[in-house]
Amino acid sequence: MKAAPKYVRNIEQFICSREPQNRSGILMRDSAGRLGISSADLLQIQKPYTFIYQRLPVEVEGEVINISSGIVLHNRARGPYKGGIRIAPDVNVWETTELARLMTLKTALANLELGGGKAGILVDFEKIYQRFEKMLNMDYYSFVDMFKTNIMKEFVDHFVERSLVRIYIPAPDMGSSGREMMLFYNRTHDPASVTAKPEGIEGWLPGRHEATGFGTAYATLKYLDKIGKNPSKITVAIQGFGNVGSHAAFYLHEAGCKVVAITDLYGGVHQEAGIDVPALMAYAREKRSIRGYDQKRTIDNQHLFRLPVDILIPAASGHVVDQSNCDELRVRLAVVEAANMPVSYDAFRSLQQRGIVVLPDNYVNSGGVIASDLEYKQGIGGVRFAREEVFTHLRKKFDEMFAEMLERKENAGSLSQAACDIATERIYRAMKTRSLL
Ligand code: NAD
Repeated sequence: MKAAPKYVRNIEQFICSREPQNRSGILMRDSAGRLGISSADLLQIQKPYTFIYQRLPVEVEGEVINISSGIVLHNRARGPYKGGIRIAPDVNVWETTELARLMTLKTALANLELGGGKAGILVDFEKIYQRFEKMLNMDYYSFVDMFKTNIMKEFVDHFVERSLVRIYIPAPDMGSSGREMMLFYNRTHDPASVTAKPEGIEGWLPGRHEATGFGTAYATLKYLDKIGKNPSKITVAIQGFGNVGSHAAFYLHEAGCKVVAITDLYGGVHQEAGIDVPALMAYAREKRSIRGYDQKRTIDNQHLFRLPVDILIPAASGHVVDQSNCDELRVRLAVVEAANMPVSYDAFRSLQQRGIVVLPDNYVNSGGVIASDLEYKQGIGGVRFAREEVFTHLRKKFDEMFAEMLERKENAGSLSQAACDIATERIYRAMKTRSLL
């Protein structure tokens, strides 16, 4: 009989399952080939440094519900682990791992002195609400707010106990927002411990709230400019109308693009003449969804992805375009990855063959972490950045990244592969310099 290993060697042994093959893994393997990085070194760059599992007991009506959460600290060769907290009913350890790796690639591509990490909190609010609805004297959204507050308090307590403050610096991701970051700050009282703090809280950054959506729109408009297209002739469809989707829609609408369709988790709007985005934002702020905005012109995700539009922006969850639906996509120019890893590797390849460009996630949605980097600098250095300085800085960073990606595109094969080459090379160099490889 084979003797059991004394210590686990890696995350696979620890959780007894293997990471599924995914796009960032394949792209990095290809990058390593072009960059002459050995497979042993590549493994160290790809795999996370640490994985932490944490149970979060939270009480509802006298009953304890145990919520599972995980933190993947992927790489800090270039600076502290940086990445969002995802609160969703479908998070899993491998998704959090890929998201953490993506953060390492993203911060490196933007040339920030940060690494990559991610937290996932597994919770199905709808299911729990249904179970306790009769006993609870509150509507669904009030319940979600209350429950999230209790989850976050528990999460931060453990986080502080494990001395992760300033080692891993969280920010919002799907399911979390400035509100949850404020709860984090309430416990740490350290402005550098968390980014995307709401307005008026020590070390908050003007423009951080809009930064990811602004960057998404800026990257889209830059690409349109590069291929000589006038924004006023461009139609756009967006999946997701949360922080990223709504601000991307706002800035594209402001630039003259016609946003014709938007969905969120609960419904969708399809107006051929173009959606009045500021009006939809006001509606969604009040109702917390876009459902019901235009009862006659509705759309679901499946139909949104099949619309003949110039630009398609997935701005919700990952893996929404894969082999099962990519042939149905009728987008004409580009898929702009505002969400993290929305397009699978196979789908990316097949879109590429059809001449549809994929603007990669680690470039498109990096506005949030670029702004977070400024917010972190405010926290550690006491400096202050004005709103216009933040937007000027974002434009400069996007201009630099796009120029670098274009320079490497021919050798790499696509913008996605070029972005991965640039980032992988920087991470590899930092790990070598610091004798981590
Ligand atoms: P959010 O929670 O603010 O909003 C998510 C939106 O997606 C909501 O409108 C929700 O209803 C919708 N949604 C969820 N599932 C859906 C589905 N199946 N169909 C249609 N709509 C659906 O989240 P966010 O911060 O806007 O993040 C969106 C994406 O952007 C995520 O992939 C996230 O990882 C990525 N991202 C966010 C940031 C940031 O700064 N917030 C930064 C980088 C990347």
